[in-house]
Parts: sequence; structure tokens; C-alpha cells
Amino acid sequence: MRQLNVLGLPVHIHKNYRDWLAQRLQSHQGTHVVTINAEMTMQARKNQDLANVIKQADLVVPDGSGIVLYLRSQGEKIDRCPGIELSEQVVQIAAENQWQIFLIGGAPKVVETVVSGWRQKWADIKISGMYDGYFDDAIAQQICEHLQSSQPNLILVGLGVPRQELWIQQYRHLCPNAVWIGVGGSFDIWSGNKTRAPEWFGKNNLEWLYRLYQEPWRWKRMLSLPHFVWCVTKESLLKPKKHKNAAT
Ligand code: UDP
Repeated sequence: MRQLNVLGLPVHIHKNYRDWLAQRLQSHQGTHVVTINAEMTMQARKNQDLANVIKQADLVVPDGSGIVLYLRSQGEKIDRCPGIELSEQVVQIAAENQWQIFLIGGAPKVVETVVSGWRQKWADIKISGMYDGYFDDAIAQQICEHLQSSQPNLILVGLGVPRQELWIQQYRHLCPNAVWIGVGGSFDIWSGNKTRAPEWFGKNNLEWLYRLYQEPWRWKRMLSLPHFVWCVTKESLLKPKKHKNAAT
């Protein structure tokens, strides 16, 4: 695993994230996975707690095109790893091994739809708990007790950024041997309530444009994208250039 740096935050590069996580699940090694994009990076500049959680995560995968394009501009030959695809692969591994999965997040009924779709795909899938993401303190307490008593292997938290990252940080001690993934809006896609951008958008690094078309109210949040470009450009101009032939 190689660690790169984007505006002071780690990004881990691995040739096969899926197998790496399968190994962590198999060996019950507690793991926090963050799927990072430009918007999250810009949030972390203003939110020190979020920045600290990202720095302490066990795996930070390059989810967003902005991150990948920047790292490629620095000479790194890396590919994008969309968090939703990685999470899907990990769910499949868990389902096939009958490892326990716990879901938290999304609007009411969304996780139920996700789980019924998964049950059709994998009849033996083991779900130890599912809760929507709009809970009060009493339900939060119930979720914590349920996590602690059931000790699931894989916990998917889709509460949006930064809440899901902070939530995982706060409660991961309840299931210290689980793999925890912050999945953002993935439950909305898996339930069929929203659709992912057609492949062409992804290939041309324009997934954000499709998202803006589908959720126009996000325009304000998306201003963080040009801001990200500005910050990384400034940083690359200030950074001393690496000389290819320089002795190391
Ligand atoms: N959400 C939630 N509880 C909240 C706020 C949001 O469960 O209090 C869910 C929301 O229903 C959606 C996801 O969190 O499924 C956030 O999705 P978004 O696409 O905004 O993710 P982000 O871009 O923040 O990763």
C-alpha cells in the first residue's frame, strides 16, 4: 500500500482494494474506509475534526475524479476507485461468506429496499441490523446497543459527509473488529431511488455534471470543485519540482 498526499490528506494506492478489504474482513481487523473526493477534501480544510478522521482512517480510496486528475498531474499512474463499486464488491464478499452486514443511513424505507434487492441476489445474505439515517437520541442509543450486541463484520454508514465519518470515528470502538465504510448516497442508488451517471460521464470525469443535473440544489456545494482546482494548482506551483534524475 502506497500513501500519497492531497492537500495534506492521505490517499492510499493499492492494486486491489477489494482483495485487501476481503483480507481485513477475513482476519477481523477493524478498518475504517474513507472514499475521498474533491468536495470532502475542501470540507476537511474547514473542518479539523473531519481532517483528523481522514488522517486516522485505515484506508482512504481515491473516489473522485478531481483527486485522481490531480495525482496524475503529479506523475502518479493511478486509477479511480469509485466508493460505491468497492462497497458493492465488499457486500458481495460478505454475502457469499455469510458474514454479518449492518446498514445505517438514508431516508426511511431506503435501506429496507436495498436489503430486499440484496436478498433476491444472495438468498443467504446475513443482515444483522438496518436503520434509516434520520434518528433521534433514543434510536441512536438503540443502534449502538444493537451494534455492540450483534458484532457485525461489515458496517455501511450512509449519513453524508462529514456526519458519517465523524459517526464512525465516534462509535467504531463498539465493533472494533468490523470493516466500517462511509458510503454517502450509495443506499439511494442501490435502492433505485437515484441513478448513477451513465458510464460515458464517469469515463470523461464528468460524473459531477450528471449529479448536478439530477440534484440541482447541490450547486452551492459543488463550488468546492473549482476551489479544489485552485488550491491544488497553487500548491503545485509552490511545491519544489522533483527532478527525474535527481539522486534519492
Ligand atoms: N442522510 C441521512 N441522514 C442525514 C442526512 C443525510 O441518512 O441526517 C443520507 C441521505 O438520505 C443520503 C446520504 O445521507 O442518502 C447523503 O447522500 P449524499 O449524496 O449527499 O452524500 P455525500 O455527497 O455527502 O457523500
